[in-house]
Amino acid sequence: MKPLISVIVPMYFEEKIVEICYTRLTQVMSKETTYDYELLFINDGSKDATLTLLLEKAKQDRHVKVISFSRNFGHQAAVSCGIAYAKGEALVIIDADLQDPPELIPQMLNLWKQGNEVVYGKRKRRKGETWFKLTTAKIFYRLLGWLTEVEIPVDTGDFRLIDRKVAEVIKALPEHNRFLRGLVAWTGFRQIPLVYEREARFAGETKYPLKKMIHFALDGIFSFSAKPLKLIINIGLLAVLVSLGVLIYSLVAYLSTGISTVRGWTSLMVVITFLGGVQLVSIGILGEYIGRMYDESKGRPLYIVDKTYNIERQDE
Ligand code: UDP
Ligand code: MG
Repeated sequence: MKPLISVIVPMYFEEKIVEICYTRLTQVMSKETTYDYELLFINDGSKDATLTLLLEKAKQDRHVKVISFSRNFGHQAAVSCGIAYAKGEALVIIDADLQDPPELIPQMLNLWKQGNEVVYGKRKRRKGETWFKLTTAKIFYRLLGWLTEVEIPVDTGDFRLIDRKVAEVIKALPEHNRFLRGLVAWTGFRQIPLVYEREARFAGETKYPLKKMIHFALDGIFSFSAKPLKLIINIGLLAVLVSLGVLIYSLVAYLSTGISTVRGWTSLMVVITFLGGVQLVSIGILGEYIGRMYDESKGRPLYIVDKTYNIERQDE
């Protein structure tokens, strides 16, 4: 029997894309590879025709499997669900909007055959993205690299192939705030980049508005680094040192000239507001960690599956 490859496609309000996405994936998987395959579409609570269209496909084609969530749980939850349901020897994670070309999958499979357990798409160029998104993404990946001990490859999205071994590790991770590209890097194994040009979105709009992007970025930072906490200590120490310096300066000035240095309101206000700011930011950082601990401690599921189609048997 031919080994099975699972292709995981999260979908959120992608009615304009279902058809072309299915066609291109099917074309590649049936014509350009020698493996058996399954296309796992995860409907992440879309309220448009995405699910209806997916079901039509599932009726016609046994390769199509659909898992539908009870509401929107987010991109990372949808991909995690795909990983949990996938049966393949290798899993390919790809966005629905064809920004990541499905035609690269055969190359990924070749690299996998050569013994690499993770093949991650590395974006050489991104078309059709705003200047703002490109710059913020660039800064974010550099900042993340500096903050974390795990080496998370820069300019890499979720478009990747992972071996079953890696999938099993990811499945066993209990964490809720998922930053999958980081988690995959964290697992280790043999990882290799595949450089490509990221296309513009085929149709529809990005599902990552600024707010979600910020949340996602914070997930990356706070789930992979405790450095912000250490940073707080350093800033605190620095503030103490500066205030000690000012104290000594004032004392010396007073003792040598006899004039006390009550010089004004401005400097006082600057110091007070600065320290107030530092304290609030510090509490905020603590809050981020505590909030995440709270999330984890509740132990709620990552997602709730409403219905599945063409999925015969559920593992675990
Ligand atoms: N997506 C999802 N749930 C969400 C947001 C996005 O399943 O809450 C899917 C979306 O349908 C797409 C992929 O995640 O297949 C990436 O989203 P998008 O293309 O909007 O992100 P961008 O490429 O703009 O970063
Ligand atoms: Mg996209």
